[in-house]
Amino acid sequence: MLSTRAKSLKPSPTLAISAMEKTLKAKGIDVAGFGAGEPDFPTPDHIKEAAIKAINDNFTRYTPATGTDELKDAVMDKFKRDNGLSYTREEVIITCGGKHALFNLFQAILDDGDEVIIPVPYWVSYPAMVELCGGKPVFLETYEEDEFEIDVKRLKSLVNPRTKAIVLNYPSNPAGSVYSTKTLEEVGKIAVEKNLLIISDEIYEKIAYEGYNHISIASIDEKVKERTIICHGVSKTYSMTGWRIGFAAGNKDIIKAMGNIQSQSTSNPTSISQVAALAALTGPQEPVKQMVAEFLKRRDYIVRELNAIPDIKCFNPKGAFYVFPNFSSALGKKHGDKMINSSTSLTEVLLESYHVAVVPGVEFGKEGYLRLSFATSMDVIEKGLKRIKEAISSLK
Ligand SMILES: *Cc1c(COP(=O)(O)O)cnc(C)c1O
Repeated sequence: MLSTRAKSLKPSPTLAISAMEKTLKAKGIDVAGFGAGEPDFPTPDHIKEAAIKAINDNFTRYTPATGTDELKDAVMDKFKRDNGLSYTREEVIITCGGKHALFNLFQAILDDGDEVIIPVPYWVSYPAMVELCGGKPVFLETYEEDEFEIDVKRLKSLVNPRTKAIVLNYPSNPAGSVYSTKTLEEVGKIAVEKNLLIISDEIYEKIAYEGYNHISIASIDEKVKERTIICHGVSKTYSMTGWRIGFAAGNKDIIKAMGNIQSQSTSNPTSISQVAALAALTGPQEPVKQMVAEFLKRRDYIVRELNAIPDIKCFNPKGAFYVFPNFSSALGKKHGDKMINSSTSLTEVLLESYHVAVVPGVEFGKEGYLRLSFATSMDVIEKGLKRIKEAISSLK
């Protein structure tokens, strides 16, 4: 009954963990949840008010399939202001979330068997989307010792005539790692030489901590810009995950193809959400600063406490709201009779015996790691870390 395509597709593991967490909570169990992939703050008031006004003004009909001109202009202003990048309206599309921008992009550029290079650890949806669009994910290993930077030689060794694109995501989900300007320049140079597209997922641009200054790879030079499609959105920056507004900017033929796909599938992103996103991009940015300041406190705490657990190492993220600690010293040990032989079995022990929900690193392509989101209250973080310490010290 099902297509081969549908049969081979796994549901998003991070959403699956959130679902398990909710099930336990519904049973009255006090779960310390580190699974969430979204800010825990409410959407700022001025954004909500703009949406309420849009409803009352009857802005409730179809908009152009690729988004309103007003919102496209606000997105163009954002790129100009934050990244020094000039785009025309034809080079910008509004989508139903950042994820949808990426999906339409892969639909627009991939033929069967085309290869897409994805650095590891990766956001779970990249390989799944590439496969769904007939492409082949090719994994580029990166290492904690190198702060998860791309090794350019290793990247070069993966490029062949079938390589269509490379995906960058910085600050990254799951590690919160970023790329140096030198790395961006070198990746840009390879892309130009080998005629590759660069898919740059910059959704966490604004969730950045002291000292990190985000540089979009598209701003390296004009040649790199021509082959870069930036995928972005308001979900993470403005705590608007439920509103479903993303955007992309790049080559106008690719953007047009994405628009055609959108016009034959979802049509326009929600009219009301577009008005809300316009208020987010053009309104006061103070709420973003407050949110980042709160994330920073939590990051400092969680990184310090994880590193204080014997034999556990945690990379200090430069952005986003996740930590990706290395728990490989726990593998090969036992919890009671249960053998811990993978990040998945460690996750099971943490959830079942200690009521802590985390995501196994293997889902992001890295065995031995766990992903913890700190988009949750300090209370939950303190409680959860205590339980993790207890769990680790109980392993034999
Ligand atoms: C959350 C996220 C997105 C997009 O989220 P949307 O809610 O679809 O806007 C894209 N990329 C990464 C890496 C993310 O973590």
